[in-house]
Amino acid sequence: RAKGSVTERIAFYEPEMDETARARRQIANDLRHAVDRGELTVLYQPQHELATGKLSGYEALLRWRHPTRGLVSPVEFIPIAEETGEIFRIGEWVMREACREARSWPDHLKVAVNLSPIQLLQNDFVAIVQNILIETGLSPRRLELEITETAIIADKLRALHFLRQIKTLGVSIAIDDFGTGYSSLDTLHSFPFDKIKIDKSFVLRSQQSVEACAIIKAVLALGHSLNVPVLAEGVETIEQLDLLREQGCDEAQGFYFGRPGLSPSLIGQAADNLQAG
Ligand code: C2E
Ligand code: MG
Ligand code: MG
Ligand code: MG
Repeated sequence: RAKGSVTERIAFYEPEMDETARARRQIANDLRHAVDRGELTVLYQPQHELATGKLSGYEALLRWRHPTRGLVSPVEFIPIAEETGEIFRIGEWVMREACREARSWPDHLKVAVNLSPIQLLQNDFVAIVQNILIETGLSPRRLELEITETAIIADKLRALHFLRQIKTLGVSIAIDDFGTGYSSLDTLHSFPFDKIKIDKSFVLRSQQSVEACAIIKAVLALGHSLNVPVLAEGVETIEQLDLLREQGCDEAQGFYFGRPGLSPSLIGQAADNLQAG
């Protein structure tokens, strides 16, 4: 029987691939209206300082409430938006929305906004950021942009140029998902980072995996010898938190502290004194 024959495999997989392609096209199409129709929304996840337990800010995480598909994950639609170029409009929308929200939080709280590598290709990227800060009245010191190393690798010189300008505005830069993808020590050395975020995959495995634990320690040592604070993402349990504290991790974020939720606009002094744990 020709069970694994080429023709049979094609006959079997083709409709499925067609379906995937069709779904992607549909999502790409629907995404063009998502901003205008108010289907995008931003959730905020708390970040805590470990030495004091104090809340230091929130990361803005994008959500898409699709009229028929329900809540679509950014992991699903961001790559499509990057392909179609819709990411420019979406990225600008998220930044404006997050900055406007943060404006109504207590003054010492920062907001971290994720950046797509594609956004760094915009010629007027720095002007866009500057305009949003002026429009919303948010102090640049309260805005942090999270980028992954892929963003930098795409066009090193251009990224470096933009990031330097961004920093001149007073905005800070965090390197996201550190330890995954194209980690290179040269990147850390030549880019003006203000924070390193250890990828959650290491934190989630830190109790079971000696290797994951070793990587966390190494990143902490690296950050500290470069004088760059380190934040651990994906902290779900007190055990993970204790380990990070013991190792001198500066900040943490994860379900243990809080899931991404509605803007904390209404939280005032109470949030200020919220203790971790
Ligand atoms: P990220 O920037 O690394 O964000 C962290 C992700 O981990 C978020 O997923 C968050 O909900 C999740 N997370 C937080 N704490 C925990 C935890 O304790 N355990 C586990 N298992 N997960 C945790 P989310 O919101 O689905 O976002 C996924 C990715 O989508 C983000 O990863 C980011 O790369 C991208 N993304 C989200 N919002 C935006 C945006 O506005 N613009 C761009 N370009 N990308 C975005
Ligand atoms: Mg992030
Ligand atoms: Mg991350
Ligand atoms: Mg991630």
